[in-house]
Amino acid sequence: MIWQLDRTARSFLLIELVSGFALTLKYFFKKPVTINYPFEKGPLSPRFRGEHALRRYPNGEERCIACKLCEAICPAQAITIEAEARADGSRRTTRYDIDMTKCIYCGFCQEACPVDAIVEGPNFEFAAETREELFYNKDKLLANGERWESAIAANLQADAAYR
Ligand code: SF4
Ligand code: SF4
Repeated sequence: MIWQLDRTARSFLLIELVSGFALTLKYFFKKPVTINYPFEKGPLSPRFRGEHALRRYPNGEERCIACKLCEAICPAQAITIEAEARADGSRRTTRYDIDMTKCIYCGFCQEACPVDAIVEGPNFEFAAETREELFYNKDKLLANGERWESAIAANLQADAAYR
């Protein structure tokens, strides 16, 4: 009986409605927990494993020495490398492909590389409309390296003490 009276009084006084409005008003003035992506972006760890890139030295020379450690360690068998010796005796890749549809972003290729040539950069916005666009070749990977070099170098520097 008391329970029914209480319920009637709450309905009559619009308690639920008023408390709902009060809650809305409280959160209206609070800082939003969401961000307005893609105009705003959240923070990324220096260890974030995004789109792959092949890096060059500051003099423009390719870092990759075609040791194939990244190809050997890749658990998804996503990397394909072909290499040959140059006239000066140095080994360089003639083909460096990554099938991004196979990649599981484990980061092993980056960890295995002795010269920090293949890295997973901070770019996570590389969705494509066709599978073919996700078959990366050496030109694409080197272009990624040039585009993201400053961010990649800063991330490697920030993480250097823990490697
Ligand atoms: S991140 Fe992992 S799965 Fe992707 S290419 Fe590198 S080693 Fe292979
Ligand atoms: S990217 Fe690094 S690990 Fe892979 S072949 Fe080149 S030097 Fe070796």
